[in-house]
Amino acid sequence: MDPIVIIGSGLAGYSVLREFRKRDQDTPVTLICADDGHFYSKPNLSNALAAGKSAEQLVSTPRAKMASDLKAEIVAHARVTAIDVAGRRVRWAGGETGYSKLILALGADPIPHSLAEPGSGKVFAVNDLQDYAAFRAALRPESRVAILGGGLIGSEFANDLAAAGYAVEVVHLGPWPLERLIPQEVGRALADALAEKGVTWHFGHTAKAIETAGEGIALTLDDGSRVEADIVLSAIGLRSRTQLAASAGLQVNRGIVVDKTLQTSAADVYAVGDCAEVDGQVLPYVMPLMQQARALAATLAGERTELRYPAMPVVVKTPALPLAVLPPAPGTEGNWRVDCSDAGICALYLDAGTVLQGFVLAGKQAAQRSQYAAKLGQPV
Ligand SMILES: Cc1cc2nc3c(=O)[nH]c(=O)nc-3n(C[C@H](O)[C@H](O)[C@H](O)COP(=O)(O)OP(=O)(O)OC[C@H]3O[C@@H](n4cnc5c(N)ncnc54)[C@H](O)[C@@H]3O)c2cc1C
Repeated sequence: MDPIVIIGSGLAGYSVLREFRKRDQDTPVTLICADDGHFYSKPNLSNALAAGKSAEQLVSTPRAKMASDLKAEIVAHARVTAIDVAGRRVRWAGGETGYSKLILALGADPIPHSLAEPGSGKVFAVNDLQDYAAFRAALRPESRVAILGGGLIGSEFANDLAAAGYAVEVVHLGPWPLERLIPQEVGRALADALAEKGVTWHFGHTAKAIETAGEGIALTLDDGSRVEADIVLSAIGLRSRTQLAASAGLQVNRGIVVDKTLQTSAADVYAVGDCAEVDGQVLPYVMPLMQQARALAATLAGERTELRYPAMPVVVKTPALPLAVLPPAPGTEGNWRVDCSDAGICALYLDAGTVLQGFVLAGKQAAQRSQYAAKLGQPV
């Protein structure tokens, strides 16, 4: 009997394996990954600089221990190049295996900045341990860092870099950070809190040119102004890795399209985590992928289980102003009601019947996220 094959050693791939082993100790599982397969928690990448952590220190469990703890064969440094759905096989340079069931946990790629000179050695994106190691190695004590994008990842890095003592400027097209997730009042408070830590913001602008300037780099913004830096960190978004699935004839859209059991358009092939699109939504966060992993593990162990998401607030790791964010479902009609106090900011998204449809809690209020999550769907 061929093993269950998981492709990907990120939080999604390892969570499926861990959850499956809680239910089934015997069925052979092979996990294949393009990286080294050591286990780490990706969210730590954006708060590790101030803590002085190296990439090696972010590894919480080495590959060999993952393999023995979870009774799996782990094939590292193997980039799968083809899936043969009809023949139930996957191939990589130098190897191939059959599968009884296949789980795609391929993650997402940072969207490359169109102006960044590939190979300039000064423009980085940080999406895995290797990226983090390269970025950290390039930083010098006095480095000026320009961040492209003031979304969740850009804002977290801005906070971390500023806390680590670097001069940080953020170029962000939106009118305030995380504008797609949080209302203006909270966005302004976050921008101010980070500005107090030394972050300079350029809202409503994009970089039109990025050029080497002496030892450093110069960004020309769309209004002609210039930002000078030593290093650029691009954080303009992520794109699900869909190409491998598409080449195998699976249905893809923004992500690899799956049904509520996480099954793709091919029988016995599933997708989880940042690469998966469930019900038209790609939710590139830890809580959704944990829910997906639990449901999928049950299905793989023989108990067909449909995914049901609970309320899943996202914690934004900006110690200057911690946030807990639970955005309303796309298309939900309503308005923000914002209350500010010494305890922080409480922004509730209410529909016409004052039913709670989403929230953003900032400062000390962020600790109340479970209480507010429990009130979701109820009048407040
Ligand atoms: C800096 C940063 C901070 C974040 N902070 C938070 C946070 O605070 N809270 C939160 O909820 N979320 C956060 N996120 C998002 C969260 O970390 C991700 O949603 C999650 O880690 C995605 O896990 P994944 O396993 O789907 O993908 P990945 O971790 O990207 O794993 C993908 C795996 O697939 C492998 N792979 C890909 N293609 C192939 C191939 N062809 N063959 C073999 N292997 C392949 C890769 O090598 C890798 O092992 C953050 C993300 C980033 C980048």
